[in-house]
Amino acid sequence: MITAADIKIKKTTSSRISQVDFNDLEFGKIIADHMFLSDYKDGEWSNEHIEPFGDISFTPTILALHYGQMVFEGMKAFRMKDGNVSIFRIQKHYERFMRSLERMCMPVMSYRLFEEGLTNLIKLDQAWVPNSEGSALYIRPFAFASEERFGVKISSEYKYIIFSGPVGPYYDKPLRVKVEDHFIRAAHGGTGSAKCAGNYGASFYPTHLAKMQGFDQVLWTDGSPDLNIEESGTMNVMFVIDGVLVTPPLSDSILDGVTRDSFLTLAHELGIHTQQRTVSALELESALEKNILQEAFGTGTAAVASYIQSIDIKGKDYSVPVPGENGVMTRIKKMLTDIRSGAAPDKYNWNTIIHI
Ligand SMILES: *Cc1c(COP(=O)(O)O)cnc(C)c1O
Repeated sequence: MITAADIKIKKTTSSRISQVDFNDLEFGKIIADHMFLSDYKDGEWSNEHIEPFGDISFTPTILALHYGQMVFEGMKAFRMKDGNVSIFRIQKHYERFMRSLERMCMPVMSYRLFEEGLTNLIKLDQAWVPNSEGSALYIRPFAFASEERFGVKISSEYKYIIFSGPVGPYYDKPLRVKVEDHFIRAAHGGTGSAKCAGNYGASFYPTHLAKMQGFDQVLWTDGSPDLNIEESGTMNVMFVIDGVLVTPPLSDSILDGVTRDSFLTLAHELGIHTQQRTVSALELESALEKNILQEAFGTGTAAVASYIQSIDIKGKDYSVPVPGENGVMTRIKKMLTDIRSGAAPDKYNWNTIIHI
């Protein structure tokens, strides 16, 4: 068990915040002043501390660099209307992080370690939480194998680190996607439902090829001849077909997105009918031809939701209507934003509030 008192805090003596232009936040570039660290050794997590963000050193032999035991989370903290800060759905991110750690044969940690690490770090760096529309403090907790040894083995030592950085809106343009019918992101029995670094590494080449063809992202399928849709790029994917919000069901090849889950919950509250079921490229094609595909969009912490303007299916390009002000995506996204900012009641206890 750790308590706030166990976290040793070394504050920076020279904050970098005055050098940051909060009106021009390039995604993933700017890092807040501090980071949280903990080490796993001799069967337990210990040495919880916060220090100024900076380089860490290790030898080229650490196991993570060779065999890929490395998992992460992506979360956000928001500036609320009253000036306080809310961290979104800590519990749900914790549960997923533990599942990712388990899948990669890495040690889990107590909820307390996860939560106290986050809240103490964000409290210290609260000035970095931006307050303009669509912006947030992105938080990156991650863990990797740090045992120094090059022989193949399960590491017996790990490092857990959290850092954060202010971000503006992620995608500012609608997405052109293609149904990827050669490469797959994840297979049944694989690591697709774990947020492990290697999943991203393996997705880059197909995504790069798609970009050379003029697309922004690929729509991943399950690799079956039916081309059942799984995700869009690094987001979960949702379709509005004939008034129903449809998304592929969770499986071990689909990442259990916190935004996906929040959208489904809020759709229910708004009285929008939802279905978690298999959607094939063939069904999409026929819905597009019948003009009953009303919206298509990806969901994820970084972008919240970004809409798909065209889908290429086996070389044929279909355009998808733009979600309007009263569209499903727009309504749910607004409700989610309102809950995070305190403009709407937090009925589901999604916010952990840091009082400033
Ligand atoms: C992180 C991630 C998502 C989105 O999850 P959120 O919790 O909503 O951010 C979707 N797909 C993949 C592959 C991911 O890694």
